[in-house]
Amino acid sequence: MSRIAYVNGRYLPLSDAAVSIEDRGYQFADGVYEVCEVRGGLLVDERRHLARLDRSLREIGMARPMSAAALSVVLHETVRRNRVHDGIVYLQITRGVARRDFAFPPADTPPSVVVSARGNDRARIEQLAADGIAVITVPDIRWQRVDIKSVALLPNVLAKQTAREQGAREAWLVDAQGRVTEGASSNAWIVSRDGKLITHPLGHDVLPGITRAVVLDVVKAQGLELEERAFTVQEAYAAREAFVTSASQIVLPVVSIDGRPIGNGAPGLIATALRRDYHRHAELS
Ligand code: PMP
Repeated sequence: MSRIAYVNGRYLPLSDAAVSIEDRGYQFADGVYEVCEVRGGLLVDERRHLARLDRSLREIGMARPMSAAALSVVLHETVRRNRVHDGIVYLQITRGVARRDFAFPPADTPPSVVVSARGNDRARIEQLAADGIAVITVPDIRWQRVDIKSVALLPNVLAKQTAREQGAREAWLVDAQGRVTEGASSNAWIVSRDGKLITHPLGHDVLPGITRAVVLDVVKAQGLELEERAFTVQEAYAAREAFVTSASQIVLPVVSIDGRPIGNGAPGLIATALRRDYHRHAELS
């Protein structure tokens, strides 16, 4: 079955789905996006993803191109047409197509809206979770508003590629003070020797992960101790556990950082329990 994408009001085979070379997303990365997990054909935490989308749009001075209800219909319809049972749905909104000029185009320029969906191999992700992943650290060279979920992801691309070349699955980004901000495509967490969960606080220097927010609910429900503060690479090396969170993989235990085993080098109990309980706290729609 060929894949279908939604492009500005039409559902098209992927081979015909295209935007202009003068799309501002293509030329300036002038746009924002969301990735939502699909489970059993339903969207996970759609409401929170759409709320974050609204915030991203507002922060870059764009209006929402259609109502949340209409957007929701498009997301579900794209999932349905692609017959995705377990996977992800991707939504991208850019400032539209206009003659190349850095400043905003005329106010009546329609935004470009693209939605695609694809299945993933759930067994493979479960295996990754059971094995745990390797992480490396690289300098965080991104701009100062990474809380906006912008499509400008070149530093993340380069970090992820460095990880790949070193046999790791994720790169943790490290600020000038030697503190981990987040992963190239995930939020970063550790469990300290005395059993406290630690993750970077929200601000302009991390993406407000939806999975992070739901995991915080699970943390509360499990009665775990939490510190929202930056942690250093040295603290991470010495941690009892480490893990990452993202919509496409939920909670993935980290078993090594820069080649050093974390804890006993196997997925930690807390990460495993958070992963197990996650979907009891998430919303399905
Ligand atoms: N940080 C970055 C830089 C990301 O790209 C992502 C995934 N999009 C996350 C964190 C995790 O966010 P979420 O849980 O909403 O997928």
